[in-house]
Amino acid sequence: MRHLLDLSKDELSAWLAEHGEPGYRAQQIARWALQRGVTDFEAMTDLPAALRATLASEFTLAPLPVLATRIADDGDTTKVLLDLGGDGQAVEAVRMTYDPDEDGVPDRTTVCVSTQVGCAMACTFCATGQQGFTRNLRPSEILAQVLHFTRERRVTNVVFMGMGEPLANYAATMRAVRWMVDPDGLDIRQRGITISTVGIVNGIRRLAAEGLQIGLSISLHAPDDDLRRRLIPTAGGTTIDELIEAARGYVEARGRRVTFAYALLEHVNDEPEQARRLAQRLRGLQAHVNLIPYNPTAGAGLRRPSQERVRAFQRELQAAGINATVRIERGQEIAAACGQLRTDVLGTPGDDDAASQAAPIEWRG
Ligand code: SAH
Repeated sequence: MRHLLDLSKDELSAWLAEHGEPGYRAQQIARWALQRGVTDFEAMTDLPAALRATLASEFTLAPLPVLATRIADDGDTTKVLLDLGGDGQAVEAVRMTYDPDEDGVPDRTTVCVSTQVGCAMACTFCATGQQGFTRNLRPSEILAQVLHFTRERRVTNVVFMGMGEPLANYAATMRAVRWMVDPDGLDIRQRGITISTVGIVNGIRRLAAEGLQIGLSISLHAPDDDLRRRLIPTAGGTTIDELIEAARGYVEARGRRVTFAYALLEHVNDEPEQARRLAQRLRGLQAHVNLIPYNPTAGAGLRRPSQERVRAFQRELQAAGINATVRIERGQEIAAACGQLRTDVLGTPGDDDAASQAAPIEWRG
């Protein structure tokens, strides 16, 4: 049976029109499903009984069952493992809540979502990348990750920084994004949504043309193409110059600053000289560099730089006039940090993952 949230709003409206229903029914249904998190058409009490029955005979609104939940940072970080059903696959999502005094920004609740089971991009330092690609998620499966958390409290931000490459699952990602920002849907500010990409140039161009004010983060990780190809073997023919051009196009089309993510790997890409070269390349672009000190994953043989090295790299960028911040660490001890999400924890929660052995955090399933 089809999940109702795999439909776009236009498709839902068209279905309703075919069934002789007025246009405002789409709004009513969206509000029940996305704002109230209703999972049973019978609960939609302002719909005619016959319509509720027809909807229930064609569509489902089932949530993804929770396989396990792990909590860290005094409850400020929660990782959830959701069952995708049918094919025995599962997917991880993370919620982070931020106090206003943490970074000066008003109260924020951010959900980090996955767009694929596994990933085909094979980044050498990423746990998901090392696991290979299994399948794309459907729009309803992406939305379900946010809905899981909105049932508890309001979500203000969504970052597409979980498992998978969002722009390699473009249609489903955009369909989910449209429901997230729809005033009848999750009603999240467009600026509260950020898509992080390994750097798929076509996808960045398409995104620029969507007419949305959503944030874009491009994962760069190196100041030169040779090193970038070693870290991201699938970067293939895409050069840093092409990515910078695509970023420029995004800034011009959307008037939004672009972020470049840079995972810092000790003695691989964290030398001050590399920071200077990076700064040179980004000059003249409304860019922001977000430094992510490497989060250890099993078997990668890479090291996280000391805080001094991280600060030194940041200072070099800033001295060259490039805005640079260091990402706040969250959920490292529950393997919920950047690059640590992967589903093969199923059955043996985290026991083969160096990062998850750091603290005695329990799975509550
Ligand atoms: N496919 C998207 C989303 C990936 S996860 C992309 O490539 O952008 C979001 C960010 O975490 C990316 O910048 C990714 O490169 C980074 N990342 C992956 N593994 C990491 C690790 N082990 N430590 C720090 N950052 C990591």
